[in-house]
Parts: sequence; C-alpha cells; structure tokens
Amino acid sequence: MKKTKFETDAIRTQTSTSGEREHSTPLYLTSSFLFDSAEHARALFANEEEGNVYSRYSNPNTDEFIHKMCKLEGASSGVATASGMAGVFSSIAALLKKGDHILASRSLFGSTHQILSELLPRWGITHSYADINDPDSWESLIRKETKILFLETPSNPGLDLIDLEWAGELSKKHNLINIVDNCFATPWLQRPLEYGADLIVHSATKFIDGQGRGIGGIIVGKDEYIEEVSFFTRHTGPALSPFNAWMFSKSLETLPVRMDRHCDNAEQLADFLGLHKKVKLVKYPFHKDHPQLELARKQMKRGGGVVCFEIEGGYEQATQFIDKVAMLSRSANLGDARTIVTHPASTTHSKLTDQERERVGITPGLIRIAAGLEAIDDILEDVEQALS
Ligand SMILES: *Cc1c(COP(=O)(O)O)cnc(C)c1O
Repeated sequence: MKKTKFETDAIRTQTSTSGEREHSTPLYLTSSFLFDSAEHARALFANEEEGNVYSRYSNPNTDEFIHKMCKLEGASSGVATASGMAGVFSSIAALLKKGDHILASRSLFGSTHQILSELLPRWGITHSYADINDPDSWESLIRKETKILFLETPSNPGLDLIDLEWAGELSKKHNLINIVDNCFATPWLQRPLEYGADLIVHSATKFIDGQGRGIGGIIVGKDEYIEEVSFFTRHTGPALSPFNAWMFSKSLETLPVRMDRHCDNAEQLADFLGLHKKVKLVKYPFHKDHPQLELARKQMKRGGGVVCFEIEGGYEQATQFIDKVAMLSRSANLGDARTIVTHPASTTHSKLTDQERERVGITPGLIRIAAGLEAIDDILEDVEQALS
C-alpha cells in the first residue's frame, strides 16, 4: 500500500469494525471476549492464535490507539496505560532490576522526579541527575550499572531542550536504553525515534486528548523493549480503559490541526510577553531569545503550546497574576483547548526543595501558560489586564 502522510494516518488508521458498516470506530465496552471452542481458548492462551481474550491484555479500542500512535511516532509496537505516570513507571520498572542505575535529565515532570527519588530506591534502583545546560558532564555520570537514559525535552516547565541526536549517540556508545518523554512536543512536532531514542512515553492526558477530558498514557518504541513493558503491564494491570482509548484515538484525528493552532497562539503570546515591561524573561523554544533556538529548529517542527515567563517582583506578583486572570483557567493541566495558567513553584513542582527548583529554573516568579485554542486577541487581553 502507498505510504500516506502523518495527517492522513492520524485520521485513517482504523483497526476494527463491528460489521454494522459504521463509519467511525465503535466503542468496545467489554471486559472479556468469547472463545469459539475449548480448542480456540487453548490456542489463544498458548499464543498460537491472535485474538482478544481480556481487556487488561488487549481490546480493539486500545489496539487502535496504540497502532495509530506507533504510526505517528514511527514505532513498531506499543503499550497503552491508564495514565502518563503509569507509562513512565512501567517503561522504567519493566526494564530494570535491583542494583541498576538511571541517568536522567534534571528537569523532569514532578511525579517522574518522585518515582526516581522516593520509590525506585525502595527496590534498589538508583539514579543520577544530569544538568541540561552542561552536556559535557553527562558521560562522567554513567556507571557500569547504568541501564537507562531518561529525558524530557522540551522540559516541563523550564522549556529547556536536550539535543536528541547527541543523546541517541551517547546511549548507543554506553549501551543505554534511551527513553524520551515526548509529551510537550507530540509526534507532530518532534519524533525522537528518528534520532536514536528506544522508547517514547506520553501523557495522553495532555495534547493527545487536547480537550481536558481524560487521563491516559502510552509507550511506543522498539519491539524488544515493548515486549518487556507489555509483560509488565499485562500482569501488574495499569491498562488504559477502552473508553479513554476510543476518545484518544478520535482526538488524534485533529492533532496536527490543533497543534498548529496551539503553536500559533503560543508564538504570539511569547512575542507579546517578550516585549512587556513587567516580564523579566520569556521562555519559548522558537522565541528569538531562547538560548537553544538553533537546536529547537533542528529537532522540532515548531515550538509547542507552552510558554513560560518570569514576572517582575517574584512570588508576590506571580500569585497576584494567577489571581487576576479572568477568562484563563487556573489549573495544573496543560494541552487543553482552554488556556491554562499555572504557578509551578507552589503547585506542580512544590514537592521539590528550593535548591532543586532553583537548579531547574523554577523561580518563585515563574508562570507557565499552556496556550489553548481560543482567539489570540482574547488570550492577550486577559494576560495584559492581569499583568497591569
Ligand atoms: C502530565 C505529564 C506527565 C504525567 O501524565 P499523567 O497523565 O498526568 O499521569 C508526564 N510527563 C509530562 C511531561 C507531563 O506533562
């Protein structure tokens, strides 16, 4: 069959029909599936035949979502999970054992940080953090026990970037499994497997759903690793619900259109903030002041939907800004059709120590705006009045 383009795959990847001639994929709300005979059941359990048995293992809706995400990321196989964090945890826990070590970029999603620092050490798995701004130091942090290189780029909320090609080569040289949290960019803007990543994890809760309706996650990548992850999730049970899988698969149909609009709005917002006298610093991967603009252009199609800025006056002024927005939503989410303002230091990253926050640029005056899909004039008007 002729190879189709990303936008087409996002819409036309459909793996199951019920026989009712429905145009859109139906929802399979069933926990289990029937066997034709005792022999059929035996063959399914013995993996001699392919087919659905039980929705913790597979379900037509979940399969479609996985299949579509694999196409969009350029992967051969994947596993869907009940949340982004179930994806992050499963991708690590399935591949490591007692004594292993993880090297991770220091700027990570708050709960990923908690998994590395509070939970994995209970099972004898340790980690080191590497500074994004000091790539020369990374190699010295790799030990013989190091098995995984875990990255998030662009980082949340600092919007710092890691050179994926460089990281891919580093992983290859030291035989590390390179896992990338690609949540902020989505495959429409960045495809880490093309730069040598081994596994991609996503919080589907964010831009993949795009409308703030449900929690979910997905891991895609190389077969040999997905096989391990799949064994782990099959038996530990963080399965994605068929309803959410159906919803995410429908949402992906509009991913390119939505992401471009998120980017349009975020770019204009970054330009506006960059010129505002109450703004000390604006962070956006494609903004002219971003120190890694060239790298952004190399590995990302556009800058994504999230903009950060540091307000003059620190904590006091930042919380006042959050309280003063009228239309924009005060929430901890991102990747929604509605524009959201967040104060990371007191919410999503409050569990970090002051020093840890400082090292990843989460100052008391930092505000994150996840640009939604509303008219940009209305977004800017609300930001302007809240700043004044
Ligand atoms: C939200 C988020 C997660 C966690 O996803 P959930 O769906 O909330 O569990 C992981 N990584 C990044 C970068 C995120 O933004």
